Amino acid sequence: MNIPFLSFTAQNDLIEDEIRAAFERVFQNKWYILGKEVTSFEQAYAQYNQVQHCIGVANGLDALHIALKTLEVGEGDEVITPSNTFIATWLAISQTGATIVPVEPDPQTYNIDVTRLEAAITPKTKVIMPVHLYGQACQMDTIIQIANKYNLFVIEDNAQAQGCTYNGKLTGSFGNINATSFYPTKNLGAYGDAGALTTNDAALAQKTNLIRNYGSEKKYYNEVIGVNSRLDELQAAFLSVKLKYLNSWLDERKQIADAYTKALAGIPDLILPVTAPRADHVYHLYVVRTTKRDELEKYLNDNSIGTGIHYPVAPHLQKAYEHLGYKKGDFPIAEEMAETCLSLPLNPGMTDEEIAYVCKAIQQFYE
Ligand SMILES: *Cc1c(COP(=O)(O)O)cnc(C)c1O
Repeated sequence: MNIPFLSFTAQNDLIEDEIRAAFERVFQNKWYILGKEVTSFEQAYAQYNQVQHCIGVANGLDALHIALKTLEVGEGDEVITPSNTFIATWLAISQTGATIVPVEPDPQTYNIDVTRLEAAITPKTKVIMPVHLYGQACQMDTIIQIANKYNLFVIEDNAQAQGCTYNGKLTGSFGNINATSFYPTKNLGAYGDAGALTTNDAALAQKTNLIRNYGSEKKYYNEVIGVNSRLDELQAAFLSVKLKYLNSWLDERKQIADAYTKALAGIPDLILPVTAPRADHVYHLYVVRTTKRDELEKYLNDNSIGTGIHYPVAPHLQKAYEHLGYKKGDFPIAEEMAETCLSLPLNPGMTDEEIAYVCKAIQQFYE
């Protein structure tokens, strides 16, 4: 049996006709930028995410950067964000000239440890940017409480957790303005790059709308220094098709994750994902941890099972951030994650036989 880490086959087979029809619609309509497909997807996604406004942009990194720009974050400001995240979260802050203030994750859930937040706040802090890592919701009640107490903004990085909830409320609807990515591998993925912002604040939505399109609402009249980061019509049309299936795909992801957790429980030196009380987990990734990570990875790959590592190097130890002067040992939890984490294959359409094959291989490795 050959089990790839990623597979789009089952999803694509299911929606092939609808995707072709969406292409045909855009092709025939002959309006390719900021037209009715984008508007219609923005409305549908806002409704899905239970927010007032959605603004489509070119990708998730831009969505994070534009969220910060909309809140006028820049040089001299500090932004609190996890020490363990995909690099885009950090890059978005760097692009504004603000200072990244990393906070370690909870070693059980891998999400930002809210008990460490207050100690990281200074008079320069402007934003808390939590990341719903691997698809699990952060402890949003405490984060919002602390933000309110210190008069800070919250920007959720919801790239990995569309459709996830905390206390029954959807991620991407807590912060002042929030960012998500529709990179193909995300739970809601386009057939190329795409992203969006979500907010309940009409003034922020309007500003974001300007920034993504040259700072211009009326063509050739520029109100602010904007960027070009528009969601294109074709990707919007595709995303509208896929959005209708998102909840059923998330259910499938959870079922596969539950099957893994059931079959793999009790293996010493194999730490399985833990979901916090009140948090939901939509399993963008099923991440296990083990001190024998490299050996397990090789064993699975040798048995034709694809795996991933999310992520092999903590942001503070990346060459790109050398100038910040961090060294090994500065964020030990993030570093341990980087050394021990392994992502198992998890794709809608995965069969019971395939799940069992992966679990059996892992059990054999530990025998
Ligand atoms: C994917 C991802 C992003 C960036 O999205 P792109 O569309 O690839 O730019 C940002 N943050 C997190 C946590 C992500 O997983």
